Amino acid sequence: MSADKHLEEEKSLNFLEEIVEQDLAEGKYKSIMTRFPPEPNGYLHIGHASSICLNFGLSEKYGGGTNLRFDDTNPITEDTEYVDSIKADIKWLGFDWANELYASDYFETLYEYAVKLIKKGLAYVDDSSSEEIAAQKGTPTQPGHRNQFAERSVEENLELFADMKAGKYKDGEKVLRARIDMASPNMQMRDPLLYRIKHAHHHRTGDAWCIYPMYDFAHGQSDSIEHITHSICTMEFVPHREVYNWLIEKLEIFPSRQYEFARRNLSHTVTSKRKLLQLVNEKYVSGWDDPRMPTIAGYRRRGYTPESIRDFCDRIGVGKRDNMVDLGLLEFCAREHLNKIALRRMVVFDPVKVVITNYEQEGEMLTAENNPENAEDGNRSISFGRELYIEREDFMENPPKKYFRLAPGQKVRLKHAYIIQCDEVVKDEAGNITQLNCTYFPDSKSGADTSGIHVKGTLHWVNANDHIAIQINEYDRLFTVEDPANESSEFQSYINPQSLRIVEGALAEPSLAEATTDNRFQFLRKGYFVLDKDSKKPPFIFNRTVTLKDSWAKAGK
Ligand code: ATP
Ligand code: MG
Repeated sequence: MSADKHLEEEKSLNFLEEIVEQDLAEGKYKSIMTRFPPEPNGYLHIGHASSICLNFGLSEKYGGGTNLRFDDTNPITEDTEYVDSIKADIKWLGFDWANELYASDYFETLYEYAVKLIKKGLAYVDDSSSEEIAAQKGTPTQPGHRNQFAERSVEENLELFADMKAGKYKDGEKVLRARIDMASPNMQMRDPLLYRIKHAHHHRTGDAWCIYPMYDFAHGQSDSIEHITHSICTMEFVPHREVYNWLIEKLEIFPSRQYEFARRNLSHTVTSKRKLLQLVNEKYVSGWDDPRMPTIAGYRRRGYTPESIRDFCDRIGVGKRDNMVDLGLLEFCAREHLNKIALRRMVVFDPVKVVITNYEQEGEMLTAENNPENAEDGNRSISFGRELYIEREDFMENPPKKYFRLAPGQKVRLKHAYIIQCDEVVKDEAGNITQLNCTYFPDSKSGADTSGIHVKGTLHWVNANDHIAIQINEYDRLFTVEDPANESSEFQSYINPQSLRIVEGALAEPSLAEATTDNRFQFLRKGYFVLDKDSKKPPFIFNRTVTLKDSWAKAGK
């Protein structure tokens, strides 16, 4: 057994795995069935990723399947664009659903279920306004009371409900309610709404329906129809569990069970589709897949890998208490994976020219390894020359002690090439440095160095006569505070003004002209980068996924 495998088996079970193992051991189920139930009213975000990993992870581990069920019972906010993006994102994360299903496909069955409840005397049509219903509900410490509509006969309720369906009433004129218990300490049990009237076009059922089931009357029933064994949702649904069980019991349908875990929130961002939609609509970002968005589509465009997101979800695990996970952990997971797979390339962001005055060769090609972490990635050839560019910040005219980069009279190694020494600084009339005249040591070539010279600094560079110009988008965290949704001002006012810095005129190795969005790169000493999905012609645009180190931790921010 490999060390990794061993570790995995030793890892303690989370509380949901314990429940599943017990259910299987007791023979309650032969195999399990879970579901991921997004409402198609926005793109998936990192919180959803944690729910996806959990649901798909359980069925992968214990056998069974996970349904992808679109919870499309609210006709107003839903859209097929969202359906498509959700499917693409789950696939990209690396999961396959057993069935693609839509709660709206159950509208007919749900209607029959409602009729069954009415016939059992367990549901009634109420004409009260939503304000009246709220007022009659009581408070957590005071019981509520029923109104005269609760006295309607089964026949009258059947007729009124059929009329609601037939479109006889306007929005809000009537609702269908379950008859449970107006004195229950659980407010959700006080005759919850099952159906409301909404004359609206639905993205799948069109105008066939003008009554739509409420969450409580769609979710558990859909679970049951699909024979979901473990229906996992977030903690805010704890009070709904009693309603969930009551309905399943009274309808005498497959006994799905609901289990709750705490929402996963990520620092320095917002994870609510409504707020993310605001960022898009108010043009704080370029769209749902802006690389600063905490959406799966945003992370993909930013260069995150599915492996790193799954690793992140695994590390944060599942629990019962809400928690705020530091964005640094997600970035850590990205670095861990990217370090293993990224192809190394040299790019100079802010160039200053170097002329090697004693270099006379022509057409010299150097061998550069693509990835020191993975020999299988092989080598590439890069051209060397008499004129090069290095990073302006890698030279100092009057350096402090222990400055190991280039300075007058000082030596450095050029990566994959030779050791050079700076002999002369050339400036324009305004005093700006325009060129550094250097000499090189012919016997110091990387891999065949017999010079005996020791240098502490190694610089990246590009050939002045063999390079391409690229644009770099340096992304940073979108918000300056940890929890923008819970600050005193509106969350938009905490947007980080430096969340995007565009670097134009960076110079790169020519091989980057062949990059695709599937490639991951480490630009030496700069960070991890990916080609932007919309970058189709020169100058190619590269997005910074993460820096090489956590600069925020160092800055104490
Ligand atoms: P939002 O508040 O962003 O609209 P939601 O819960 O309304 O989120 P749904 O599309 O209804 O979004 O969610 C689909 C599934 O993802 C649900 O099971 C939900 O509990 C889960 N989920 C949503 N947000 C998170 C989160 N932050 N952490 C863990 N699970 C989440
Ligand atoms: Mg929801």
